[in-house]
Amino acid sequence: MEKLVQAYNPAAATNVMCRNTISIGWDGYLYDCDFNQMLDLKVACGSNHISGFDIHTLNQRTVVVNQHCYGCTAGSGSSCGGSVA
Ligand code: SF4
Repeated sequence: MEKLVQAYNPAAATNVMCRNTISIGWDGYLYDCDFNQMLDLKVACGSNHISGFDIHTLNQRTVVVNQHCYGCTAGSGSSCGGSVA
């Protein structure tokens, strides 16, 4: 964890997948990314379920972050598509 924090790269943070992608669970709940989905951290906005999908509200939400996000933002960054910075 210390290594990840020390390697934090702001440039990587600008391209993490939660900035342009959402994850949807089998039960219709929305998550900022698949990591948050596995941690059951649903999106923090008006509706967190596909039944209340509202692109404008989703676009204005604050992404739910925690320590695991250092895994996406250390060094060259990380995503499903590889490095991001
Ligand atoms: S783990 Fe954090 S930084 Fe990475 S995509 Fe998910 S919310 Fe974004």
